[in-house]
Amino acid sequence: MARVIVVGAGATGLSCAVRLLERGHRVDVLARELPLETTSAAAAALWYPFRAYPFDKVAAWSRVGFQELAQLAGLPETGGRMMAGTELLRSPAPDPWWAGSGPELVRVGSPPPSYSDGWTFTAPVVEMPTYLRWLTNRICELGGTITRLALQQLPTGADAVVNASGLGARLLAGDRSVMPVRGQVLYVEQVGLDRWWLDGAGLTYVVPRSTDIVVGGTDQEGVWDRTPDPAIAEAILQRATALVPALQGARVLRHKVGLRPARPAVRLEVEQLGDRRVVHCYGHGGAGVTMSWGCAAEVAQLI
Ligand SMILES: Cc1cc2nc3c(=O)[nH]c(=O)nc-3n(C[C@H](O)[C@H](O)[C@H](O)COP(=O)(O)OP(=O)(O)OC[C@H]3O[C@@H](n4cnc5c(N)ncnc54)[C@H](O)[C@@H]3O)c2cc1C
Repeated sequence: MARVIVVGAGATGLSCAVRLLERGHRVDVLARELPLETTSAAAAALWYPFRAYPFDKVAAWSRVGFQELAQLAGLPETGGRMMAGTELLRSPAPDPWWAGSGPELVRVGSPPPSYSDGWTFTAPVVEMPTYLRWLTNRICELGGTITRLALQQLPTGADAVVNASGLGARLLAGDRSVMPVRGQVLYVEQVGLDRWWLDGAGLTYVVPRSTDIVVGGTDQEGVWDRTPDPAIAEAILQRATALVPALQGARVLRHKVGLRPARPAVRLEVEQLGDRRVVHCYGHGGAGVTMSWGCAAEVAQLI
């Protein structure tokens, strides 16, 4: 069995580490940001293939992700659960490109005013802080380690390295095609909501959790600013309240910004660097949680 260093402690790196440990490898995770500080911690995190390419591979990884996250939803300690919700569309559309990757889509019979189409489906929703803690514990239980370390280059001293560094691949793989897509969200108090809502046109989403509701969002390409913008927060809340009137008057608890690691195509491939095998796994854009287990399975195979 190999000694593997996984670089990155977001949803991608942690899922890869779990799968590799389950196969009997010795695994150490190194990361500049620990799990709760990563972009992954900002995810809503609804199973939904969004801003990730190419579609055929994303659909396949998302299918595996759906099955695994649906299973984990049966274990309350993971922070996952299955939740019904509705995506509304401003104009009629064919089934989305990812139809068939997991959920069963049911067309909305009578869309609300200003919408003309939409679909309802049940999918996994993951409360990321709980989920990332669960993944961390799983790694430790299986004998792996997680250490904070800011790397200037991919590490040596292991048989194989998994590069799950998200935006960090700009430095660690010299890959300038990885770009941030800024996502700003706010959290409001739970007002009794038990369904998610999505309007992709302005990227407006409302995802309830056990004690709060994630309200988003933005998808600003190439923007590195991680400070929440009050004017953007106000606009998000207005759009979200128009979509889900039950949010009217809900108390705002806090704000957050995450930078999605976007790339023209997810990079999941082997690069042989001397006697080291590097498996790159980054560029998951807006669907890193959705695809995490699908990508982790492929990474484990490549190792
Ligand atoms: C607001 C928002 C909402 C989202 N909603 C969803 C959703 O509903 N569903 C969904 O599937 N996805 C969603 N996403 C997307 C998802 O969060 C990302 O695709 C996912 O987090 C990417 O995970 P990752 O592990 O690849 O990268 P990251 O979470 O960014 O982790 C990268 C890791 O690499 C480490 N690293 C980087 N550089 C170095 C270095 N030099 N040395 C050491 N370590 C390094 C970092 O410290 C970090 O630990 C959302 C994103 C945002 C911002």
